[in-house]
Amino acid sequence: MPQYTPPLRDMQFVMHEVLKVTDEFKALPKHADVDAETINAVLEEAGKFASEVTFPLNISGDTEGCKLDTATHAVTTPKGFKEAYAQYIEGGWAALSGDPAYGGQGLPLVVNQCFYEMLNSANQAWTMYPGLTHGAHAALHTHGTDEQKQTYLRKMTSGEWTGTMCLTESHCGTDLGLMRTKAEPQADGSYKITGNKIFISAGEHDMADNIIHLVLARLPDAPPGIKGVSLFIVPKFHVNKDGSLGERNGIYCGGLEHKMGIHGNATAQMVLENAVGTMVGQPNKGMQGMFVMMNAARLGVGNQSLGLTEVAFQNALAYAKDRIQMRSLSGVKAKDKPADPIIVHPDVRKMLLTAKAYAEGGRALSIYCAMLLDKEHSHPDEKVRKDSGEMLSLLTPIMKAFLTDNGHIATNACMQVFGGHGFIKEWGMEQFVRDNRINMIYEGTNTIQSLDLLGRKVLGNNGATLKKLGKMVGALVAEEGVNEKMAEFINPLAYLGEQMTKFTTELGFKGFQNPDEVGAAAVDYLRVAGHLVFGYFWARMAQVALREIAAGNTDPFYLAKLQTARFYFAKLFPETATLMRTARSGSKALMDTDAALA
Ligand SMILES: Cc1cc2nc3c(=O)[nH]c(=O)nc-3n(C[C@H](O)[C@H](O)[C@H](O)COP(=O)(O)OP(=O)(O)OC[C@H]3O[C@@H](n4cnc5c(N)ncnc54)[C@H](O)[C@@H]3O)c2cc1C
Repeated sequence: MPQYTPPLRDMQFVMHEVLKVTDEFKALPKHADVDAETINAVLEEAGKFASEVTFPLNISGDTEGCKLDTATHAVTTPKGFKEAYAQYIEGGWAALSGDPAYGGQGLPLVVNQCFYEMLNSANQAWTMYPGLTHGAHAALHTHGTDEQKQTYLRKMTSGEWTGTMCLTESHCGTDLGLMRTKAEPQADGSYKITGNKIFISAGEHDMADNIIHLVLARLPDAPPGIKGVSLFIVPKFHVNKDGSLGERNGIYCGGLEHKMGIHGNATAQMVLENAVGTMVGQPNKGMQGMFVMMNAARLGVGNQSLGLTEVAFQNALAYAKDRIQMRSLSGVKAKDKPADPIIVHPDVRKMLLTAKAYAEGGRALSIYCAMLLDKEHSHPDEKVRKDSGEMLSLLTPIMKAFLTDNGHIATNACMQVFGGHGFIKEWGMEQFVRDNRINMIYEGTNTIQSLDLLGRKVLGNNGATLKKLGKMVGALVAEEGVNEKMAEFINPLAYLGEQMTKFTTELGFKGFQNPDEVGAAAVDYLRVAGHLVFGYFWARMAQVALREIAAGNTDPFYLAKLQTARFYFAKLFPETATLMRTARSGSKALMDTDAALA
């Protein structure tokens, strides 16, 4: 059976020693009084919830899955899920970073992001039920009318009602402009919505009293394509004026998908038959509201893979210390045993350190993104809000795609550490691999994330935000450029930083002449950008570790951090050279292949 220990020490390191989040919060009136002790105490309890309440349901939830009663359309979640959710609400966990105006506790999103990392380590399938609610809440909070906010946000903040996002239809996933679901305006200002959605996560379940679906649909006179899509709230149960639940609405689960992983989460085919909804935002501008939800969800999906990377690493590390096979190449290490523990073998260490470096680098980026979100929401200075929003927008596709791709590499590596036992269910390792796999696909596939990064976020604004990232990297290089002890981190980072400008300009120029060049290079480009960001955070983490060690701090945590930084720069970061080469090799080798793909 796998084990999980919440990585509280590392979270504290990133928050308080590297990013100094409470100093940043001092500038935000809403969070000015939040101190490190409060954050640490909340996360300690949050870690207990994840490791003691939802983690024990991870394997059983995977084995049992969800069940649909085709007569009533009711979905039963795996044993224990509903009770765990009741505990989640009772403990106030749903409302941790919620807006106090709707009953939330108003803690910074940084705290919630760390909490969700732990929930994802513990049980990604369970975590998706409350997780999607945060995105739906954010979309309504930003684009809903006062009446919609009053009707829904309180119960969504408390977690009594959950949320979904209903975009995908059988013939349209990436290309939402092909959507067919129809919304007919009614005399009372509401809409009757009819259509079929597929793959809707947490679309139906037995954990909450009501489910608030955010549905994309087309008005009768809508222009074709994505510019004719509107957003609607469609509750499972209508809500009466006094807030009580009314009649059942015409939206129900017509089937559950049988899938590779996240079996405990109900992936529902949703049928809408004259379901009554109200519009969110303006007609035909539904993507504006949905993007709020999608951006929140993209940060959430990166966080899912971070959680799985961490838990897979913890278990692989414990196994590698215990399992004995063969002798070390450099001589016997465990003289009292018939063989050495496999952790002595260089490649086993490489697999472990890959997962550790991706988990800790990912955690730094994840917390940094949440901090940007806190600043974007609540900084009093408009320019800081704008800058934070722009930086977050650049980092969102990296957070989503780089962390989920790394999660794929890391969970597979950790399973490999177990040899054949990793392939056997009872160890729990193959479940981490299976559960992670969807993270690379949903919320816009990782290819789509890379096109968003290179096409929209970088070339689309002539590299303006990328330059700001370059400035951040440049400031660290300037600060540490003469520090010999930092040279092994700063030199490769500085080199990549310089290369990045030239590399981007080159791709932009080629893309201008032939747009397929952008499509051919984008996935490699995102990985290079991901390493630039990880390299920056790993250098900052090494900087703090070196300072502590120089000051005489003997806590092995700092040496571990330094060694992991060295591993990252020596063994993972250099793939950027290959990636730039493959990106530069252009589109011809892909597009001039009609015979090969005939
Ligand atoms: C378990 C699960 C849960 C999900 N949860 C939800 C949910 O809660 N709500 C919801 O609305 N949807 C959900 N989805 C749907 C998910 O978001 C889509 O599956 C995903 O966006 C991809 O769409 P698609 O499956 O139609 O693939 P397609 O869009 O058909 O794409 C097929 C392939 O073509 C590639 N491709 C497409 N267009 C381009 C392009 N322009 N350039 C390069 N490559 C391209 C894609 O990257 C992909 O590799 C879920 C899916 C699953 C499996």
